[in-house]
Amino acid sequence: MTIELKAALYVVPTPIGNLADLTRRAADVLAAVPWIAAEDTRHSGPLLKQLGATGRLLPAHQHNEQAAAQRIVDIVRAGEAVALISDAGTPGISDPGARVVAAMHAAGLPVVPLPGACAAVTALSAAGFLAEQFLFHGFLPSKSGQRRQVLAGLRGQRAALVFYEAPHRILETVADLAAELGERTLLVARELSKLYESIVRLPLQEAHAWLSADSNRQRGEFVLVVSGAEVTADAAEGERVLRLLLAEGLGSKQAARLAAGISGGAQKNLYELAVRLKNGEE
Ligand code: SAM
Repeated sequence: MTIELKAALYVVPTPIGNLADLTRRAADVLAAVPWIAAEDTRHSGPLLKQLGATGRLLPAHQHNEQAAAQRIVDIVRAGEAVALISDAGTPGISDPGARVVAAMHAAGLPVVPLPGACAAVTALSAAGFLAEQFLFHGFLPSKSGQRRQVLAGLRGQRAALVFYEAPHRILETVADLAAELGERTLLVARELSKLYESIVRLPLQEAHAWLSADSNRQRGEFVLVVSGAEVTADAAEGERVLRLLLAEGLGSKQAARLAAGISGGAQKNLYELAVRLKNGEE
């Protein structure tokens, strides 16, 4: 199909496993654009060939993204369309792309995002967690100490938490999630849209043993979705008091200590909440 393209950056999601998940619009845009900026031009070659895409390829990966962004801005400014793709899924989601998009905005040029495959959203749709919010974290630090520190900071978070993880780290990450977050429900979404797709929802504390029981369960690509922190009566009262004390101008530490003493809520969680409130994150 021939489509009308404008001078813009088209952000185009590609499949995360199943080639049939490329949308018709994505296929049309990729077949029609004169330029395709790709995270890895060799990796994307077969897909583009299959689509009959003849646009000139331009590498845009994490090591050259700023320079690529400038070149893309120049091309669009000169009146041509550029499609941006990453190796899999949506560009800019734990993938390069944000710098290119930011450069377009800075130059006052249009960005056209196409809806499409994203592992995080696909996993979330299978989680069935009732919290209306989710927090997409992407990859955690690879070192356990740093990972646990990040997770400790997320302990009071009520939104469901979404992580990406590689197979060689899945066991240690799940162990750290259980140690830092306590009693939660975990969705393990593995190999989404592929032959060995598996979706398992289980108590977080049982996940390490479940994964360890069969090495096949540790293979492939993973999205982990963890249910958000539950709000107990003490915690709810603690938050109410904390907000009052912060509004009176108390510092985070003092407000958390007093709110914990008055309500019976956990001081550490209240302190973390106070910091988030002060940073405008809640
Ligand atoms: N931009 C991509 C997106 O929109 O989802 C993510 C790219 S990131 C470099 C790759 C990570 O995404 C993998 O390590 C894995 O955690 C997750 N992922 C990608 N494809 C997946 C799939 N088919 N099943 C499960 N997780 C997947």
